[in-house]
Parts: sequence; structure tokens; C-alpha cells
Amino acid sequence: MNLIDGKMISSKLKEQYKERIASLPKKPNLVMIRIGDDAAAEIYTRLKGKTCLELGIPYSELVLDKEITQEALLKQIDELNANDEVTAILIESPIPHHLNILEAFDRILPKKDVDGLNSINLGNLAAGHPIFTPATPLGIMKLLSEYKVSIDGKRCVVVGRSNLVGRPMALSLLNSNGTVTICHSRTKNLGEITREADILVVAIGKPRYITADMIKEGAVVIDVGINRLSEEKKIVGDVDFENVKDKCELITPVPGGVGPMTIISLIDNLIKTVE
Ligand code: NDP
Repeated sequence: MNLIDGKMISSKLKEQYKERIASLPKKPNLVMIRIGDDAAAEIYTRLKGKTCLELGIPYSELVLDKEITQEALLKQIDELNANDEVTAILIESPIPHHLNILEAFDRILPKKDVDGLNSINLGNLAAGHPIFTPATPLGIMKLLSEYKVSIDGKRCVVVGRSNLVGRPMALSLLNSNGTVTICHSRTKNLGEITREADILVVAIGKPRYITADMIKEGAVVIDVGINRLSEEKKIVGDVDFENVKDKCELITPVPGGVGPMTIISLIDNLIKTVE
């Protein structure tokens, strides 16, 4: 077993991006929209802001009231779309349930949609010519490339089909000529399918759900899950790491695998808004 060290790769990429950003004629300028006072959303925007600061990328946070109407939210997005100073807009999840997030994503101009979550950008990815790929799958593709994992012709299985992770992940692997199967909560005999995978990506949010008997000997396993176990006071992935690791050629730990790559991949998309 060899570990995929996302922390190390993300630090290396950060150094490379520093140089690239310093030489850009125009800097990207990010506005992060956060609605209400969700603690997780607050942490994520803070971490993204910190990375932007380190890399010399101007950013700001637009914090909106949790009671905001859909109409008022769309108006805010329209104003940011019309502001030429702003090159990038993202909406931090989760947002209050009364709001329609898909409509809000679709309101962001595709060229400013650095999370790649509006229909045009997801459509471009599905059509095989991505512009902005959502940051988590983009980060995973970078990890696979850094570790020289060939995708061409490989059996790839993605467990999870969210727009944020599973779906764009499967499309990214397909675009790199993998033979891809997508599994979800209605999939029957999950283990039979995951056992065929040369490359297995799991993004379901269920602690240690993927066990050793579900893994093929020599597989590359990417664990996206972040599950906080209060009784063990730690964060674990969706893969039963301790029992799975010795069967794998490569595996991502949690934490320290996919997580650090997500923020750095957002930077990649930010740079694209001015290139
Ligand atoms: P969602 O809840 O949006 O999606 C979960 C997906 O998993 C759904 O497609 C669901 O199927 C599927 N699923 C749930 N249970 C099962 C099961 N028993 N068997 C097979 N499939 C199942 O989650 P996200 O995609 O947003 O996130 C997934 C995990 O990744 C979470 O732990 C999240 O915290 C983490 N994450 C980590 C990131 C990182 O940077 N490391 C970034 C983003 C997320 P169905 O569609 O049928 O409901």
C-alpha cells in the first residue's frame, strides 16, 4: 500500500500557483456568497479566504441574511454578474432550505462560475469540453495525475452521484477514457460492482462503509468522505481505511487526502477567470 499525500501535493501546487498568479496581468477577484450562519459554511469560506490571501488573490465575502428571499438573492447575483471588477462568484453550501440553490447557481454567469455547478458548466463537462470542473473532482484528477495513475481503459467505479462530487467525478474519468460505472443509494449488490474497480472513488458520507471485501486487490482507492465521529473524536472517510489499505496499490487517507486538494483546485479555476 502507498498513501496518496494530498497535503504534500496541494502545498507543491500552491507554490506553483504563487508564481503563476504573480505573473498574471490581471488578478482574479472572488466574491463568496454565504447565507445565514451555518458553521460549516463559515469554516469553508474562511479556509478559502486564507488560501486566496496567501496567494495574493483579492476576495470578499458577501454574508446575506438567512431570511433572504429567492428574488433578493438573484438580484445580488445579478449585481455581481454586472460588476466587471468581480471575476468569480461562488455560493457556499449549505444554504437555507427555502431557497432554490440550483436556480441560484444557474443565475451566476458561466464565465464567473468557479465552482462549476451551474447547468452550462456541468453541461460542458458532460459534453467532454469542460471549462470549470467542480473543485473536488478536479483535485482528484490532479492527484491521479501526480501519482501517474493511468485512467485510459481502466474500470472506474464512482460511488455517489451528487452534482458536487460523484457526477462530475464520473464525467471527468469518462473524459479521460475510463470505463465508468456510477453507483448510488439504489444500487443493488454494491460490493460486486466496487470489486471490479481498478479505480474506486467513494463520496457518500457514510463512515467506513466500503469494507475490504468490496475492494479488488491492487486497486487505487480515493476516499472523499468526511465523517465526524463524536464518540471516537475523529474524522474518518467512507472507506474502512485500516482494513482496506493493504489491499490497495494506492489509497487516500482521511484527513490529508482529497480534502486539501479541493481548495487548491478552486484556485486553479480562479486563475482561469482571467486567463
Ligand atoms: P450527498 O449527500 O450530496 O450525496 C451522497 C451520495 O451518496 C448520493 O448520490 C447518494 O445516493 C449516495 N449514497 C448514499 N448512501 C449510499 C449507499 N449506502 N450506497 C451507495 N450510495 C450511497 O454528498 P456529497 O456528494 O456532497 O458528499 C459526499 C461525502 O463527501 C460527504 O462525506 C462530504 O462531507 C464529503 N465531501 C468531501 C469533500 C472534500 O473536499 N474532501 C468535498 C465535498 C464533499 P442517492 O443519489 O441515491 O441519494
